[in-house]
Amino acid sequence: MDKYAVIGWPVEHSVSPQMQSAGIKELGLNAVYEKIPVQPHELGEAVSRLRQEYAGWNITVPHKETILPHLDKVEEAAARIGSVNTVVNEAGSLKGYSTDGYGLSAALSESFGIHPLGTRFVFIGAGGAARATAAYFAANGAGKISIINRTRAKADAIAELIRELEPGCRTQVAQPDEKPLLQSLMQETDVIIQATSLGLKNDDPLPLDLGLAAAGTPVYDMIYRATPFLTEAQKHGCPTANGASMLLYQGARSLELWTGREAPVEAMRQALYASLGAARAKAS
Ligand code: NDP
Repeated sequence: MDKYAVIGWPVEHSVSPQMQSAGIKELGLNAVYEKIPVQPHELGEAVSRLRQEYAGWNITVPHKETILPHLDKVEEAAARIGSVNTVVNEAGSLKGYSTDGYGLSAALSESFGIHPLGTRFVFIGAGGAARATAAYFAANGAGKISIINRTRAKADAIAELIRELEPGCRTQVAQPDEKPLLQSLMQETDVIIQATSLGLKNDDPLPLDLGLAAAGTPVYDMIYRATPFLTEAQKHGCPTANGASMLLYQGARSLELWTGREAPVEAMRQALYASLGAARAKAS
């Protein structure tokens, strides 16, 4: 029997086991997918054990960057961003991949019919998820990527990475209080991606004033539920979607990397959305 897992700290909240188990079942594989809590100081030891026993695994916070030195190979796109969320164990040799960019791209295609080529993106947030997905869009022909972040240095670092990797992709950086600049960025974009952690807690402020956006601009929030930011976007006449579909497609891509089979997306979606609903009910 093949064993797969998600490692992280904390990892208790992860719904990847429900989603991946549904995919495994639908494909008729003799395999299991587990949740393994791994504290930061245990990572090296955990990877040694996983190398012996597991065919592949997902990596979540806080190990996405620190796992790189423990791997034998890293696909070019993941090496460029310095972050891995999927490991494939090829007979004891560990190869790392990042499927977050693919996941968001598939989600934007599904919800809004948006594809990276020539598209202008505004990212709000400059953490690991924004970095991975912005680099993916740049590599796939994005026309322009603007990054709005509280901490300017982190947005500058993503813009610099993009300019190095894809000089043809225009970049711009702003902070949330630069109103005239924000207004022009928000008016001249094809899509707005909310990539901060604001909205995870009920009393969080909105990450940005959506009054600055043109009505009709699609808004995607990486958080996996209907956030106040998305409600506000709808009030401004913007079509919206939340991060559940990104979570789905990044996981589907992981399953494809492990098995070489096309992922049964609808079976995985059903299990994932049911688990997210149950998790929400438990939290409220
Ligand atoms: P990071 O911790 O790396 O980045 C957090 C980002 O949020 C930074 O830009 C940070 O700004 C900003 N931020 C946090 N608190 C505040 C605040 N009080 N005011 C303004 N900005 C703030 O997180 P990730 O990049 O890993 O994740 C970002 C979001 O994306 C999370 O909500 C996560 O759940 C979600 N996500 C969803 C995925 C999916 O599959 N749907 C996959 C991965 C992530 P600063 O730089 O100034 O600190």
